[in-house]
Amino acid sequence: MFRHRPLMELQTQSIRVLRAGFISIDCGLAPGEDYTDRTNRRNIRYTSDERYVNTGEARGVASSFATNSRLGQRYKQLRSFPDGTRNCYTLTPVERGKKYLVRADFLYGNYDGLDRPPAFDLYLGVNLWRRVSIVDPEPPPFWTEIVTVAPSNSLSVCLVRTGLGVPFVSVIELRPLPDELYPLANATQSLVLSEIRTNFGTNRTGSPGSRYPDDPYDRLWTAPDDNPVGWINVTTGSDVANTGTATNFRPPMIVMQTAVTTAAVSSSLEWSTAPSGLDGEIHMFLHFAELTPLAANETREMEVYLDGRRRNEGFRPGYLASGQVAVAADQPGSLVRHNLSIRATSRSTLPPILNALEVYALSRHLALPTDSRDVDAIMGMKQAYAIERNWRGDPCSPQALIWDGLNCTGDNITSPRITSLNLASSGLSGQVPTSVVNLTSLQILDLSQNNLTGVIPEFLAELTSLHTLNLAGNQFSGLVPKLLYERSQNGSLSLSIEGNPDLCYSIDSCQRRRRRKQFYIPIIIAISTTVMVLLAIWIFSWVFKRRRQQSRPVADAMETPSEEGGSIHLLKQKDQESQQFTYREIEEITSHFEKEIGKGGFGPVFYGRLKDRTQVAVKMLAKLSSQGCLLRSNNEDVTLLISVTSQVLTLMRVHHRNLVSLLGYCDEKNNLALVYEYMAEGCLVDHLRGKARESTGGLTWEMRLQIALEAAIGLEYLHYGCKPPIVHRDVKTANILLNQNLEAKIADFGLSRAFTNDNHSHISTNNVAGTLGYLDPEYQRTFRLNEKSDVFSFGVVLLELITGKPPIIRENENAVHIVHWVRSWIERGDIDSIVDPSFEGEYDQNSIWRVLEVALSCTHLTSNKRATMNHVVVQLKECTAYISAKSTYGHSTQDDHILSFQVEFDVVASPAAR
Ligand code: ATP
Repeated sequence: MFRHRPLMELQTQSIRVLRAGFISIDCGLAPGEDYTDRTNRRNIRYTSDERYVNTGEARGVASSFATNSRLGQRYKQLRSFPDGTRNCYTLTPVERGKKYLVRADFLYGNYDGLDRPPAFDLYLGVNLWRRVSIVDPEPPPFWTEIVTVAPSNSLSVCLVRTGLGVPFVSVIELRPLPDELYPLANATQSLVLSEIRTNFGTNRTGSPGSRYPDDPYDRLWTAPDDNPVGWINVTTGSDVANTGTATNFRPPMIVMQTAVTTAAVSSSLEWSTAPSGLDGEIHMFLHFAELTPLAANETREMEVYLDGRRRNEGFRPGYLASGQVAVAADQPGSLVRHNLSIRATSRSTLPPILNALEVYALSRHLALPTDSRDVDAIMGMKQAYAIERNWRGDPCSPQALIWDGLNCTGDNITSPRITSLNLASSGLSGQVPTSVVNLTSLQILDLSQNNLTGVIPEFLAELTSLHTLNLAGNQFSGLVPKLLYERSQNGSLSLSIEGNPDLCYSIDSCQRRRRRKQFYIPIIIAISTTVMVLLAIWIFSWVFKRRRQQSRPVADAMETPSEEGGSIHLLKQKDQESQQFTYREIEEITSHFEKEIGKGGFGPVFYGRLKDRTQVAVKMLAKLSSQGCLLRSNNEDVTLLISVTSQVLTLMRVHHRNLVSLLGYCDEKNNLALVYEYMAEGCLVDHLRGKARESTGGLTWEMRLQIALEAAIGLEYLHYGCKPPIVHRDVKTANILLNQNLEAKIADFGLSRAFTNDNHSHISTNNVAGTLGYLDPEYQRTFRLNEKSDVFSFGVVLLELITGKPPIIRENENAVHIVHWVRSWIERGDIDSIVDPSFEGEYDQNSIWRVLEVALSCTHLTSNKRATMNHVVVQLKECTAYISAKSTYGHSTQDDHILSFQVEFDVVASPAAR
């Protein structure tokens, strides 16, 4: 087929750009078996679903289906969800406010041998997408599509059991759409495709249907089975253009090049459809184009009738130009048959014509997702206590699937808030996580009858809506915080704390309890001394034996100096012991170190799963040399080992949304392994300059800004939220990790000093630790460390995000520090040369200026002139608010001021140059 070359080139170019945002998941495909589907020049890469879902079982269709050579590879396996009512896939990366087409395919293929295809509900986020009822186990698969606007930076596709069998899914695909396509789909409603998208003028035997690359948005256009009697196919080899209203639909040229018509002017084109499984209003988009030039005395003018009522004035299709008529049915709801009739008007000399038809049901977003602050807080608790229950998908929405133990507000106008949380008798141990404090609408909190330890946190008093707090039957110790006590006295809080043996209301009551204890102490001592002596003899012989076996010292209870000069207790508390893994457990978690996901200066990092299937990254710090700090056979290093272990125990208690959680460790067999929260998208540097950049097509400026903000919040927490403050010492893009939602978290905090190695990239003298290019020149000079050293390194990270360049830039044999490089372009007045060319001009200049300004204020030579992380967070928040207001309203809601940009041209001595 002939096409103008420039048009072809244009199409290929836009396809290349668009494909960057495709997500194509072959559900149930084993990790590492990703493949490219090359059928019909498609070249779509299908990936395993492991990074999008963490529940369900991978299954294969029955062998009679699997051996069918006509069955596409992506239908040979699937994921089924025998457990839980709701199971969700989280699709990322997507951009909040952008439009997407999401498609799900289901081929049952008798995978469970029951020969009973199931029915279930499919949700997009918290709103029903459609009811899925699989009738046929055979191909072709059942598929459904939705056009939607992403409410956040991820989209969840949830399968919900309805008592009619086990939900499953074979394929999930996501395709970005331009904002102007399908204007009916917006933030408050989506469009669900009813049945098929029909391409008239060809039939199924002749054409299997069109999709990508014919349609750059990968919509499926299917030919009808057979033409009704009297229909005539029309076709052209010429280009058909999309102009006018067609730009809102952009039907692909190959679809518009064919059409049907009738033999006689008086004969109409009749079509009927009965959407099933859909409740919303039905909207039809009819696509017309004249494919042959009309003679001077010829006219083609048509009227569209839907369910017997005329819906438009006479419409004349343009020659080789797509035109659309959109009609809506009067009667919404499923199982209503809609009859479409296209007739020539009395002015027409030619019969009607129709090139393509799309039928959609409108899905209004009646349910709102839970307030994001509550989602973050409850996810923090879910993670801290490893809670399973039915805690999947959105916590409060929809009402019918609310998480066990939660009550929420719900008025369908504002996002639901969590008002009550009941985790009584749930086997919880450890301390109350700080994330609770973000549940600001909480009225009732019941944590009774668990094994919670430590002091009752004061921050509970900050929950001003809280009127009932039940902490009875735990192991809390110390004093009840004064504010909580006062609130319980003035009647604004019903507080239950009975059954906590070491807890007292006031200093007086603590003293009374101590006196009572003192009375019994001599008696207890007498009895226990005898027991202790016997026990000590047994322990002594056991320890002696064990030391001989492992020839390594064990410290059960001691106090060691921390690196920050404070002191950390190395007490093996119960809750901490539960996070200590044996080497054998580490082997199980990592399936015998099957999948290496990275390598750092201290050893490899492996992918793993805990017993509850939580994904983890296991960092092995093995066989470290004396430069590597750990050598078990010499006393000095043993002390350091104890110091490291004590820090590990401390760091396991540091939890924040923007810090990579340390979940546990293993200290056995000459190996120290650290078990971290899994960050599916790896490290930031990889997305800026590594492999990930090639596979995802790079991060947009908006994404980078969001990542910068999240990393800054994590660092701010280390500096101001931890007591004593934690100075990271090794802030760099390799230590900023991204999870599957592209949320950024700071990694490796708190350990960098102890783990300083002799890796070439690390500076490691007696006093200085860090990575070349990120090192604070003042710290390097004076050996004096404070939070501002991290600020310097973070400034370098910001410059990397703007420029895409490494901290040390090598140009014509010269190495120049990124701060110098950026300043030299600014001095030349050429800002455009600084910005990462991969944005291809797609960035908001104002925010780039502002971040540049922040970065330069972070990298000031003198530490006390540098910004604080508080300041950095405020600045970055303003930038993200500005960008999101701009993308929502087309401009910022604040004054669209050009952010002022003043650079102090002080000379920064490059660490590289020294
Ligand atoms: P160094 O420790 O020498 O400064 P590094 O920080 O790059 O270097 P590691 O922290 O050991 O080294 O990590 C090595 C790689 O392992 C990372 O680049 C990342 O790809 C992967 N990785 C580390 N931690 C995680 C995690 N929690 N989740 C997923 N991948 C991880």
